[in-house]
Amino acid sequence: MAPMRRYFVTTFGCQMNAHDSERIKGTLESLGFGEAAAPEDAEVLVFNTCTIREKPDQRFAAHMGNAKVLKQRNPDAIVAVGGCYAEAQRERLFELYPFVDVAFGPGTIPHLANWIGANGEGIARGAFGIAEERSFSAELPLQRERRFQAWVQVSMGCNSKCAYCIVPSVRGREVSRRPGEIVAEVTRLAEEGVRELTLLGQNVNSWGRDLLPGLRTEFGELLRACDAVEGIERIRFTSPHPKDFREPVIAAMAECRAVCEHVHLPLQSGSSRILKAMRRTYDADRYLRLVDRLRDAIPDLALGTDIIVGFPGETDADFEETLRVVEAVGYDSAFTFIYSPRRGTEAAELEAQVPDEVKHERLEQLVDVVQRIAADRNAERIGGVEEVLVEGTSRTDEALLRGRTRRNTTVVFAGEARPGALVDVHVEGATSTTLRGTQAALVAA
Ligand code: SAM
Ligand code: SF4
Repeated sequence: MAPMRRYFVTTFGCQMNAHDSERIKGTLESLGFGEAAAPEDAEVLVFNTCTIREKPDQRFAAHMGNAKVLKQRNPDAIVAVGGCYAEAQRERLFELYPFVDVAFGPGTIPHLANWIGANGEGIARGAFGIAEERSFSAELPLQRERRFQAWVQVSMGCNSKCAYCIVPSVRGREVSRRPGEIVAEVTRLAEEGVRELTLLGQNVNSWGRDLLPGLRTEFGELLRACDAVEGIERIRFTSPHPKDFREPVIAAMAECRAVCEHVHLPLQSGSSRILKAMRRTYDADRYLRLVDRLRDAIPDLALGTDIIVGFPGETDADFEETLRVVEAVGYDSAFTFIYSPRRGTEAAELEAQVPDEVKHERLEQLVDVVQRIAADRNAERIGGVEEVLVEGTSRTDEALLRGRTRRNTTVVFAGEARPGALVDVHVEGATSTTLRGTQAALVAA
């Protein structure tokens, strides 16, 4: 028997890409490939790329250095590049990396399958799945990392015009997936043992608005429909845009048992002037009022966010405003980014770019504030009991288990439970990112 041919997928970027990689892996498995332990052992190397900031571009370039060496060693190996960088650089990719065999944009995974399935024959080298051909990949086979957790894509693309962001130009206009299809997938996943769902879209709160009049609906209805599926214990979603967070979604969050007490609510900047330049279409006061409404409706709510420092024209006073909003909200977690100019975006053309050292200073200052607040918020949980979905063992101590609370905080704890189990944990300690504790059943025993 011929030895099984192997693939290796390297994923960069967001959860949307991680989910696409599950489909890429599932598709390759269905073509008879097996997963290799390392790129060196693979005949098909897939890179699912990100280009949201310069850093992922640089990481990708480093990986391409290795891929070139592997291709020299084994000229029959296939190098495939997919995702947002591939789409953004479609004109130049093959010039930059002549050893790449095939490239495909986000949302065009079936093209990869066709190409590899045909052994690379019949389709010219470099065939792209072009923007018009994008489709939801829900019908493709799926190779999930964990049997009890799943991502479900509710929309693709984005209709916003945030001045710094490359996403609309690489992922296209927003297209909502039909509600019946989403609920059918959720039902199937629940039957397969999935207990926690994360609904994915660039702006989940505008989901449904582009559907045909007879199907037109809104995200709160979708949360309710997913909540009604038996077996689903936890529902999360990412990301909502503050401008589209309306009452029906807040009500659904408050009323649906499975919807977790956690919202990732990107702020980007606390300065209304900068928010305007970013074209976010809300100001700091409107954002803070939304936070109040959310907390009134969902008392134990945890809030996460994304913040960019050093957007063109950001002054010290603007940055102080960001710190003020961060203090006022009291986030449980935050992803903090240095503004990175992206070719083709509006902000990249602005003259008043902020010097690198100022950006770095602001980031450091922001991270200090975010960590202090998150540590205080987590310390408040000490002495309480949290419901934890067990994900595996601790990454640093195999004797301990690791999981997440409904509020999306990682917990490392002493206990006896299998991955996928929901257990109560007594919280005994906290850092800015992690809680420590002991499983309640063990405390009681
Ligand atoms: N659609 C989601 C949203 O609006 O929140 C996610 C967009 S993006 C994948 C995730 C985060 O990357 C954004 O919220 C923003 O903070 C950050 N980001 C996007 N473009 C950036 C840029 N040019 N420089 C720095 N950070 C950026
Ligand atoms: Fe980018 Fe703004 Fe769309 Fe998010 S909402 S993907 S930040 S353009």
